[in-house]
Amino acid sequence: MSKMQAARLHEVGPTFTIDQIDIPQCGPNDVLVQVKACNVVPNLRNVIEHYPTWFPYLPLPKLPAIYGLDAAGIVHTVGSHVHSLKPGDRVYVNPGRSCGSCHSCLRGQHLNCTAFTFQGYFGFGAGSQRVFEDYPYGGFCEYMTSPADGLVKLPESISFEQGCRFGYLGTAYSALRKAGVCAGQTVLISGATGTLGLGAVMLALAMGATKVFGIARNRQLLERVRQIDPSRVQVLSIGDQPTEEWVQANTDGLGADVFIDAIGPGAPHEISISGIKSLRRGGRMVDIGGMAEDLPVPMFQLMCYQISVIGSLWFSVAEGQDMAAMAAAGTLNLSLFEQEVFPLSQVNDALDALEDRKGGFTNVVVKPGQ
Ligand SMILES: [Zn+2]
Repeated sequence: MSKMQAARLHEVGPTFTIDQIDIPQCGPNDVLVQVKACNVVPNLRNVIEHYPTWFPYLPLPKLPAIYGLDAAGIVHTVGSHVHSLKPGDRVYVNPGRSCGSCHSCLRGQHLNCTAFTFQGYFGFGAGSQRVFEDYPYGGFCEYMTSPADGLVKLPESISFEQGCRFGYLGTAYSALRKAGVCAGQTVLISGATGTLGLGAVMLALAMGATKVFGIARNRQLLERVRQIDPSRVQVLSIGDQPTEEWVQANTDGLGADVFIDAIGPGAPHEISISGIKSLRRGGRMVDIGGMAEDLPVPMFQLMCYQISVIGSLWFSVAEGQDMAAMAAAGTLNLSLFEQEVFPLSQVNDALDALEDRKGGFTNVVVKPGQ
């Protein structure tokens, strides 16, 4: 066995081709993972079709490229210097790669490395192209290499389909941690029915938030979000009432401790501003949705009220391991997701399926080897 199936992109556009290519060898510090499931993330179509023109400063892997951001699978082979993992271990591959030896990496801030790159997706700096050369495999193939320190061990209770949802979940978890969410706090989440926002609701509950306010547009999906924990979750359809008024009315006039802005780039900036205005003194806003419009932020008010506005991207491997522990303990309920599963050979159909999913509840996944 020396060949494997890989879905590769040969030109800019929405269509992958199934190719037979060599199974990679793993280096001394690497692990070869047999991919069992890879998420078809909502932003993938933008990356492969529009990023070259929208964001020319974000490096993309050279074509033909194997995409696939979030993969989960089984350790097949470990490199000679890898002692903490063994063949048969179930893992999520955190695709965030850094150089490992720059000043930021030495500080433990791998996400601030100038070479920070998503394996199988896109990069952020001049060093990214080298990372793509070192790790050219996304999750849309049967076997991928990863550094051993990029893997989250998954317990038996997490399916591979659930495990490959960790990317968007982890992004929400890291934002909640940066906001200092802890037991007894109130958290407002915009885009609460979407892939990022739903994860923020689930994780805020898992972290002990006692009131979670979800705002979005779709009433049916909002009701599903509320049903996750009707005693702690309250929802508002955007436009029914000013967000700040609604939050204040439900917090004895204080406002929320934390606002997670998970609404996508296409939304109007007024939603983000109303979220900031919903914060109590000392409150923190963290953006993970990538609001595209400039925000007219009232800095004087932010100073007076000691409000923080924070940008947050992705999450650490350790935070991924935290989530695996929460899911194993049952505080993070991954059974809320409806899986839409496609064999790897139907990856193009999986991309189309993104168009009519039920917000963040639907998880679109491809399974290599089927
Ligand atoms: Zn670095």
